[in-house]
Amino acid sequence: MRTSQFPLNTVKETPSDAEIASHKLMIRAGLIRKLAAGLYTWLPLGLRVMRKVEKITREEMEKAGALEVLMPALQPAELWQETGRWEQYGPELARLQDRHQRDFCLGPTHEEIITDLARHEIKSYKQLPIIYYQIQTKFRDEIRPRFGVMRSREFVMKDAYSFHLDQESLQETYQVMYQAYSNIFNRFGLQYRAVIADSGSIGGAVSHEFHVLAESGEDAIAFSTKSDYAANIEKAEALMPEGDRGPATESLNLVDTPDQHSIDEVSAFFGIAKSSCLKTLIVKGEEDELVALLLRGDHELNAIKAEKVFGIAAPLQLADEEQVLSACNAKPGSVGPFGLKIKIIADRSVVLMSDFVCGANQDGKHYRGVNWQRDIPLPDQIEDLRLVVEGDPSPDGEGTITIARGIEVGHIFQLGMKYSSAMKADIINEGGKNQTMIMGCYGIGISRIVAAAIEQNHDDNGIIWPAQLAPFQVALCPMNMHKSERLRVAAEKLYRELLDAGIEVLFDDRKVRAGFMFSDMELIGIPHRVVIGDRSLDSGMIEYRARTASESQELPMVELIPFLL
Ligand code: ATP
Ligand code: MG
Ligand code: MG
Ligand code: MG
Repeated sequence: MRTSQFPLNTVKETPSDAEIASHKLMIRAGLIRKLAAGLYTWLPLGLRVMRKVEKITREEMEKAGALEVLMPALQPAELWQETGRWEQYGPELARLQDRHQRDFCLGPTHEEIITDLARHEIKSYKQLPIIYYQIQTKFRDEIRPRFGVMRSREFVMKDAYSFHLDQESLQETYQVMYQAYSNIFNRFGLQYRAVIADSGSIGGAVSHEFHVLAESGEDAIAFSTKSDYAANIEKAEALMPEGDRGPATESLNLVDTPDQHSIDEVSAFFGIAKSSCLKTLIVKGEEDELVALLLRGDHELNAIKAEKVFGIAAPLQLADEEQVLSACNAKPGSVGPFGLKIKIIADRSVVLMSDFVCGANQDGKHYRGVNWQRDIPLPDQIEDLRLVVEGDPSPDGEGTITIARGIEVGHIFQLGMKYSSAMKADIINEGGKNQTMIMGCYGIGISRIVAAAIEQNHDDNGIIWPAQLAPFQVALCPMNMHKSERLRVAAEKLYRELLDAGIEVLFDDRKVRAGFMFSDMELIGIPHRVVIGDRSLDSGMIEYRARTASESQELPMVELIPFLL
């Protein structure tokens, strides 16, 4: 490619809504342009990167034996009604009607559609197990789209679904997909971790998330300093053994209650639907009164809740204790709505505790909390409130817990029969009996990965692409080519040779200053830069610099291609 035919849409300004490095750099480097909140156009340069993510993902899916399909983005309501998710999903599901007033939604995920396909297409148990996958646009009406394509409303996902006769077969395929995911993230050249996860609104029992490690990540993950133990912090808390409580429990040791508020009253005030109470811990007493509300600082919903709680417009960085206190105009212990006292308990959490001191429960022990997950109704059984903090012993007894930030880029689930039984996806088994198929599902955030890769690989000058994701491998920068015919001829020849060697090269044939070329190529993150000038033609040497290096080096021109390969 030549820059004369492949315009670089680099810009100096960063948009005011760009809070994190990848969002700023994707705009500045000309990878994406915003259309509206959470909606982005991919420019040619950005799309080249996304295509690389897709290519590697496809190759590993094919290796895992998955079959590619393409399902419609627009989905009929009837299928969602069959599983009950039409009612359960909440406002993230973008619903619309066609001209005949029939209900549809824009697919946020495709379990219903694939299950419908499977119940019609899979005729014999002999066809099982089978894995289908697609790479396709999803739509989720995110409450707070942000960070560019990291959390957008329209995004590209690779989603796969597997069908099985029995649990063993599901587990086998789950293992194959887990390995395929590890291969994919290894090939991207990203630092990542697979963690035990909660299966949330998708359902199922066993689930893992894949996180790209980055400070700006919205999730917290807990892992052992010594062993392989790694879990999403919510899951780590849910899995913590009985009696092994973190410091928050102590602060919830409360006595007597003159004033009580029902959970309904409080959730209405905070604007928390019972079904969308992600990452919030409500601690309630025996009579359903609110004892404490815990807001974890690792999800966008918190900002909204914090807004309601503290009456402030700006989203709060709950990780920053001072910021929280000054924004709330509060000291630890000051009183908020419902007489709730503000208390900072762990580095990423704020607890609002009742000022009226809601009594110790009957047996004089700790109050107990429930972990309210999205779309899961409040369970009757109330569990202990648990927190996992840095330095806790790892649950497997090896090492201690370290907490890091991660960007969720993949999520795999053993679904079981949640969809297949609701939708009667049955099959005749070997014994001639009707049997419900068992399912797994496996997602990768294709477009989010582009942003996550930048989040992990950049410096003050711009993006530093890992080789596998770079839009071009080599930037060929001739110095003052427009003044030297022999240089032009030599540069064209080198360009040809690079192309013939199968190297993706961006030939900067613009009539611009060297400094301008260099800063563009650094900003867009091309791994290798080759500078050729009139001097090179006399000496036979070119100037080479890796994007990761601070200095250039001289290389004989004839050795360039073998060096790059
Ligand atoms: P998150 O916790 O970030 O909201 P999720 O758990 O809702 O993600 P899944 O339903 O597990 O997402 O979807 C599979 C993958 O799709 C995620 O692991 C993530 O990489 C990607 N993804 C989900 N929502 C978005 C979004 N709004 N923008 C970009 N990618 C997304
Ligand atoms: Mg989500
Ligand atoms: Mg998630
Ligand atoms: Mg997920």
